[in-house]
Amino acid sequence: DDTTAADAARAYELDRRHVFHSWSAQAEIDPMVVTRAEGSWLWDGAGNRLLDFTSQLVFTNLGHQHPRVVRAIQEQAATLCTVAPSSVNAARSEAARLIASHTPDGLDRIFFTNGGADANEHAIRMARLHTGRPKVLSRYRSYHGGTQLAINVTGDPRRWANDSASTGTVHFFGPFLYRSAFSATTEAEECERALAHLEQVIALEGPQTIAAIMLESIPGTAGIMVPPPGYLTGVRELCDRHGILLIADEVMAGFGRSGRWFAVEHDGVTPDLLTFAKGVNSGYVPLGGVAISEAVHQTFAHRSYPGGLTYSGHPLACAAAVATIETMEDERVVEHAAALGQEVFGPGLEELAGRHDWIGEVRGTGVFWALELVSDRATREPLAPYGGSSPQMAAVLAACKREGLLPMSNFNRIHVVPPLTISAEEARTGLAMLDRALTAARADA
Ligand code: PLP
Repeated sequence: DDTTAADAARAYELDRRHVFHSWSAQAEIDPMVVTRAEGSWLWDGAGNRLLDFTSQLVFTNLGHQHPRVVRAIQEQAATLCTVAPSSVNAARSEAARLIASHTPDGLDRIFFTNGGADANEHAIRMARLHTGRPKVLSRYRSYHGGTQLAINVTGDPRRWANDSASTGTVHFFGPFLYRSAFSATTEAEECERALAHLEQVIALEGPQTIAAIMLESIPGTAGIMVPPPGYLTGVRELCDRHGILLIADEVMAGFGRSGRWFAVEHDGVTPDLLTFAKGVNSGYVPLGGVAISEAVHQTFAHRSYPGGLTYSGHPLACAAAVATIETMEDERVVEHAAALGQEVFGPGLEELAGRHDWIGEVRGTGVFWALELVSDRATREPLAPYGGSSPQMAAVLAACKREGLLPMSNFNRIHVVPPLTISAEEARTGLAMLDRALTAARADA
């Protein structure tokens, strides 16, 4: 109606005048106004309904406006909006208990942060103090956050403009068979060679200088490269051999997205530190954290941990986490995510690949899928360069929007990452939109 259109126009005008946007050339963007959202759908400023295949930045795992989470936030706000981190709060205590009940055995202590980057910063600080060593190894093709150290351990182009000397970060290649850094031809070969490569990097950097290896259990924005079976186990073994801590970044992959509570479960691996954010409370209120092993916890039993945040364990965020996790348990959301992957997204996306030769590879698990788009299947030439875009990719995105689909994209990839609560029917509707959009974009290009 008119009021909504006028409100949307005013919001847009004020945004363009006063809001400074992340990762953007300010004068070159045309951000979408979102006026309303429900479940897997949202409405833009012009009143168009769009199917959200992005979960925003892959965080609304329960979809928009889940009534149970909304109610929990309202009730917490009416009871006690906030309290300093040094005191005890029921919502925070219960959130910590619930999170620890789902993290791998032994990770029973939770340090709360405001999001994923600061969770990774604190995990690294803990690892450095625990080991007394300076360096952190992490993967090329990774994202660990936008704060200074987190962006330096990141292995994607967002790091380039932020690199600073003396951060003690070193990068290595992880397994990625489709674009193998090791000329491997099978997953098993890729796994073996990636581990041999990491072993060499450790040897050449000096094992006694390395505090931690940080990796996304399944790299997310970098391309959803599900590691071959045995890779994470192999990294765990290398860490154990050299007294290096393993930090699993589960900020995007965690809380059900991969079809398990945490993606490390696919390989049965227990990291020393596990970082989370996003799905922990569906992103309704900013929250992240670090799940800490007993050994690391002991380091700070009689020695003060030198770090903290004003909003650590904010009651509104923790109340949202409690409601989110209880809903995930009661509604069997993780099982639903696994089934969607096996029954709808896996076969549905393979079917798309059969019809569109721009799709070079389909990969993923659960509700966590990537289409690697290429201009030539034989050479695997990406449809947009690493770190960049292209008219073809822009055409795919524009065609999706015309179809009523909001897809996630990064360079030459389309990611299919809707809420875990999307129905099979809605998921199929979205895949049909994507199918038509690819056909239209191909005709336009
Ligand atoms: N780690 C991973 C794997 C992420 O995907 C992200 C965000 O996309 C982060 C860390 C950073 O989280 P935040 O943006 O909440 O700081």
